[in-house]
Amino acid sequence: MDRRKFIGLAVPCAALTLLGKSAFAAPTLVDENSELAKTVHYIADINQVDLASIPNYKKGQRCEVCQLYSPIDGQPDQGECGIFTGQTVKAMGWCASYA
Ligand code: SF4
Repeated sequence: MDRRKFIGLAVPCAALTLLGKSAFAAPTLVDENSELAKTVHYIADINQVDLASIPNYKKGQRCEVCQLYSPIDGQPDQGECGIFTGQTVKAMGWCASYA
């Protein structure tokens, strides 16, 4: 293979490799202090708060049984949520948009 052909193949391959890494980067966990999390009153661990202080909370509610939650293979403690696009929530989390 001549040099010109090699470069012609190598550059697109390198670009695809870099693009692939960013496209498949692991999503980050929702920060409880982010604006959206505060807006929906997201709590990362429902067992760590005084449940009486959450007026809309009903016993047994948590992210992993919410209709907006999608589990992630190999990560039993967190999943995706329809509200927090591109991020993950804790399975034992909760927010006011629980469904
Ligand atoms: S909408 Fe459901 S899965 Fe998403 S943060 Fe709220 S309780 Fe958890």
